[in-house]
Amino acid sequence: MPLRFYNTLSQQVEEFRPQEDNIVRMYTCGPTVYDYAHIGNFRTFTFFDLLRRWLRERGYRLDHVMNITDVEDKIIRNALAQHKSLTDYTATFEKAFLEDCKALRLEPPERWVRATEHINEMAAAIQKLSEQGHTYSSEGSLYFRIATFPDYGKLSHNDFSGIRAGARVDVDTYDKADARDFALWKAPKDGEPFWDTPIGPGRPGWHIECSVMAIRYLGETLDIHAGGVDLIFPHHENEIAQSVSLTGKPFARYWIHSEFLLVDGQKMSKSLGNYYTLRDVLARGFAPEAVRYLLASVPHRKQLNFTFEGLKSAETSVDRLRNFKLRLEKEKFPPGNNPKLAIRTAEAETKFSESLDDDLNVAEALAAVFEYIRDANVAMDAGDFQEENGAVARAFLNRFDRIFDVLRPSTQRESLSDADVEAKIAARAQAKKARNFAEADRVRDELLQQGIILEDTKDGVRWKRK
Ligand code: AMP
Ligand code: ZN
Repeated sequence: MPLRFYNTLSQQVEEFRPQEDNIVRMYTCGPTVYDYAHIGNFRTFTFFDLLRRWLRERGYRLDHVMNITDVEDKIIRNALAQHKSLTDYTATFEKAFLEDCKALRLEPPERWVRATEHINEMAAAIQKLSEQGHTYSSEGSLYFRIATFPDYGKLSHNDFSGIRAGARVDVDTYDKADARDFALWKAPKDGEPFWDTPIGPGRPGWHIECSVMAIRYLGETLDIHAGGVDLIFPHHENEIAQSVSLTGKPFARYWIHSEFLLVDGQKMSKSLGNYYTLRDVLARGFAPEAVRYLLASVPHRKQLNFTFEGLKSAETSVDRLRNFKLRLEKEKFPPGNNPKLAIRTAEAETKFSESLDDDLNVAEALAAVFEYIRDANVAMDAGDFQEENGAVARAFLNRFDRIFDVLRPSTQRESLSDADVEAKIAARAQAKKARNFAEADRVRDELLQQGIILEDTKDGVRWKRK
């Protein structure tokens, strides 16, 4: 059976074939760098990583673009509150995000693209949409008029025919003609940063960012567009409306969405306060590989209920895999090839690959690995496992690890990263400003325990490692 994915657009499992040769043009929606990412976010990013790795294993070459949203309402609010420029504010969290990705062994895409580095292209795209009659302006902001795009709702399978154009539902503070309409360009409010462009001063909306950068780097029609399920509507629906209006071509052929990570039955999210950052979890002594394993172990179309119990059993699973690898490396097996075991290994490897070909069914793939390890361990104990069986077993384990990448133990995180330290220093400065000196001292002590020494100088805080 060929490689296939469930496509949100068709609501069917479809065979995967890129448009051209063996190259996969893929766009995935990246982080908004206004804070540390939580492990719910990383579930989605880990899914992108598995997708990349399996496509590569199947012989495809990747051209994968992921955006970094570095201008957005929350970013602006927080940067203003901290009297920082947008760039200074986002740099800390972008750096932290990339460090976290590295800790989780998430392969970087072929291109990271920042929204703020493509403002002129976004303005040009909005201008084109305006010339085509897809927009209207209200108080200096520009909106996409959904009534000009009849296919709206095809991805999310929402039927909007019941919504009257002109019905007013206030979903944000801007004035829109229709509840579905969305801001392409936002006029600056008092004190907010803005860009001067041919369409006026302001900043882009979130949706146009993805359409413009995806088309710029990957062409008018992508092979794969992926993201979390929360992005299907309205974000991806809006991306389609803009992109198709701009190019007249289908925007993406396969839309793949991953489900949420939950805590006690609810989506992990900043707004609910039920979240752990990757740093929180590592600080409790868990290895990043255990977190990676947990996030990678549930098929992307199923919700993943996060518990520390679950994380502990992920740790146990990683240990089992490593013990098996160690046994393969260290034990001396009798010469020869046990044909029964040779068949058993080939079966397991086929089941592993077939499961991943089946819409990345990681649960089945892992079951194939663990059932095999159980049988191989029994054979080793009984003296039935022979030298040549070892070579094939090692090749299978390597293949497993090219996708799951949990066998190599990470070296202990030496200490806090630079970005961590800077974020803590900023928090301490905030506390001082709020005259919360106890908190400021606590942060200083916490840093000292980690070997970071702060020096208050007249030019601000300087720090060094012990
Ligand atoms: P954001 O940085 O808020 O733009 O979110 C980045 C990504 O994380 C998006 O693709 C979301 O779909 C995804 N995401 C947010 N919360 C969760 C969650 N609880 N589980 C899985 N993915 C999530
Ligand atoms: Zn996007």
